[in-house]
Amino acid sequence: MPAFPPEPGASAEIAVIGGSGLYDPEFFEESKEIKVYTPYGLPSDNIIVGKVKGRSVAFLPRHGRGHKVPPHRVNYRANIWALKSLGVKWIISVSAVGSLREDYKPGDFVIPDQFIDMTKKREYTFFEGPVVAHVSMADPFCEDLRRLAYETAKELGIAVHSKGTYVCIEGPRFSTRAESRIWKDVFKADIIGMTLVPEVNLACEAQTCYATIAMITDYDVWAERPVTAQEVIETMKRNTENAKRLLYELIPRIPEEPKKCSCCNSLEAALL
Ligand SMILES: [Zn+2]
Repeated sequence: MPAFPPEPGASAEIAVIGGSGLYDPEFFEESKEIKVYTPYGLPSDNIIVGKVKGRSVAFLPRHGRGHKVPPHRVNYRANIWALKSLGVKWIISVSAVGSLREDYKPGDFVIPDQFIDMTKKREYTFFEGPVVAHVSMADPFCEDLRRLAYETAKELGIAVHSKGTYVCIEGPRFSTRAESRIWKDVFKADIIGMTLVPEVNLACEAQTCYATIAMITDYDVWAERPVTAQEVIETMKRNTENAKRLLYELIPRIPEEPKKCSCCNSLEAALL
């Protein structure tokens, strides 16, 4: 794995990776845009570095501005490497998902605590040899960051679920009905998306604290409840507004230094 040299001229303690709908952190102060080169190529877009209530924050739209990069083509290694090179210790990932449960409704937020990886061909690791690492993924998300995100969303009156299993599919196509029923009834997953893996495992290898704010846009096809594009667009718009409100309140509450947690320290026991 290449080292993470500090990027000259810019740094940040917290990063936000924006998903579908969230391309622009309008609440950043003193922001500037920087281009970061990595050993894996370019990240999804230029990174915006700025301040939020005194904290230094980096923002990267996962699909690039204008949604140019599909989920299976996102250069996840370049994205995580670039953020780490800015000195980021915490990553808040925001993503749009479908629901696999009746009671996880469109417009609700979920802070997942587990995931199931059904992706097929992505670059999953920074460790391609000769250094080999098998990081622990038993608890893949940062408990401290999850708790803060949940409590802050709740205070803001956002309908939020403190737990959930996210099944990550390869995409870019959606699931068939048969697949959707498997994720729901056999895997017992709660939400479905296309971008969590390998973002979460790479963040873990880079020893950053990582949590996801998953915003439900609609029910997956198991529900046999067709929605119009217009309904989905309206839900996404509302979700994006809520995500911005949540980030604005959440960022200043994040501690300066991560505690010893399972996510960012799993590498210590993993190097062979
Ligand atoms: Zn952590």
